[in-house]
Amino acid sequence: MIYLDNNSTTAVAPEVAEAMEPYLADGRYGNPSSPYRFGQEAAAALTQARQQVARLIGANPEMEREVIFTSCASESITSVFRSAVRLFPERKRLVVSAVEHAITLNLCEELETELDYRVTRVPVDGSGHLDIEALETALNDKDDPPALASIMWANNETGVIFPVQRISELCRGAGVPLHCDAVQAVGKLPVNVSALPGISYLSLSGHKMHAPKGIGALYISRRSRYKPLLPGSQQSNRRAGTENMASIVGFGKAAEMAVDGLKSGKMERVAELRDELEKGILQNIRDTEIIGGAKGAERIPNTAKVLIYGAEAEGLLMMLDQAGINVSTGSACTTGSLGPSHVLTAMGLSEKEAKSCLRLSLSRFTTREEIYEVLEILPGLVERMRALFAGAAK
Ligand code: PLP
Repeated sequence: MIYLDNNSTTAVAPEVAEAMEPYLADGRYGNPSSPYRFGQEAAAALTQARQQVARLIGANPEMEREVIFTSCASESITSVFRSAVRLFPERKRLVVSAVEHAITLNLCEELETELDYRVTRVPVDGSGHLDIEALETALNDKDDPPALASIMWANNETGVIFPVQRISELCRGAGVPLHCDAVQAVGKLPVNVSALPGISYLSLSGHKMHAPKGIGALYISRRSRYKPLLPGSQQSNRRAGTENMASIVGFGKAAEMAVDGLKSGKMERVAELRDELEKGILQNIRDTEIIGGAKGAERIPNTAKVLIYGAEAEGLLMMLDQAGINVSTGSACTTGSLGPSHVLTAMGLSEKEAKSCLRLSLSRFTTREEIYEVLEILPGLVERMRALFAGAAK
């Protein structure tokens, strides 16, 4: 199998599985809240994992309260929104980009319908770039100040990176707390929250970076207030629930490996392979285009979003599956829904174009041979798909 759907989820790294093993099978089942030594050993492992994650995002590893573990990034994001609602009850507006992940947009819709919130969805252009002027205007409405802005670092479908530094400055200047969904950026790009004082909260997810599914984290800046979604004594009173120790230790190990990977140039290698893949597709398959790949545009190194005119992407995905190649048509969370991707329509693609896009996302485990094999197989499948599609349209 060739796996090119790493923005959806990643393989657990062998070193991560090895680090987790004692917490699953080897009797290290202590509860980190227990005062005796068996529990305190677990507490020490929890602290170490927290420090590993803190280092990955440039938070202070000694500040216990700055990084908490959650069950997933969706929980981290939800907790930030629910916290903002309770901290600023007089502010009934939210600012997000039009291309946020489904969890963020779902939360906005829920708050609109249940609590009469107003939501400003800041548009993007055809290359996926955020309209910074529109963001600035949205943040600075003195008659209707927002309780929270939530803007992602990098888009999961296109890989396009937003100018986080500028966004952080604008939010700070406007006095609006900023949450950054950094799920697709962390581990792929250097992330340093210490240099971004406008970021109050940042969400990340283990399973996008070779840790298991069902573990996430939330950074809460020491300058920001926070009301927990699950009130309780664990994790500096910021998240109740006995900690998922095996996954937390795995996440810590994955974070440490991501730091090493960034230092040793592993992501540059991934970018080279992605660029080769894109070049090969553009050369070998007529009428194709890279979405978000405009010259000078910044993207995360592992993502290729390809528009293949005249081919129906869902069908192509099934054909590729039969050939042993896993790709995606969009975000895994919206796969199965019939509508076109909200990210692509926000970028101005027609419904037909949006349904002709494949996302291929690599990881540090992707090999050059795999990329060559995809380049061998894909053109023939596209031609078959186009013929079928044209036939069906007649
Ligand atoms: N945000 C982005 C940008 C994502 O890509 C994802 C997962 O696809 C999420 C949030 C949700 O992450 P999790 O699966 O950990 O809840």
